[in-house]
Amino acid sequence: MPSPYSRSLAVIDETRCIGCTLCIKACPFDAILGCSQKLHSVISAYCTGCNLCIAPCPVDCIKLVKNNHFPSERTAQFEHARKDFLLACKQRAEIKAIRTQQRHAYNKQLMDTKKKNLADQLQQLKKKSFDS
Ligand code: SF4
Ligand code: SF4
Repeated sequence: MPSPYSRSLAVIDETRCIGCTLCIKACPFDAILGCSQKLHSVISAYCTGCNLCIAPCPVDCIKLVKNNHFPSERTAQFEHARKDFLLACKQRAEIKAIRTQQRHAYNKQLMDTKKKNLADQLQQLKKKSFDS
């Protein structure tokens, strides 16, 4: 069910998606699902219509469409609920930012360990050839 709180929503043409994952990385609000080499979909209940996923798509298969659930006249109650929606979006963005930071830190640690292991192996090989 699309969120009624966004004026527009992103939609992915899944028949053209090549599963590159660039849109997932670009979406600050965790509103896109998919994994590498598989088709991707927008979770319309989370989409804010921010537009940030459109440009990175290499096959141009994401477009923004008007959200027909967004009311033309908005009550105070609607505005209140919309604030809650935006707050939840902000929290998802913060959680995603932390997760991304942790993943980068983990990848860096992994690369450092690999580099160190290679350097150790090289050192041992040098020592062996020197001893023989
Ligand atoms: S329009 Fe914004 S919130 Fe919606 S899927 Fe794209 S990047 Fe995410
Ligand atoms: S950026 Fe485009 S092609 Fe890549 S995963 Fe997203 S929708 Fe599919």
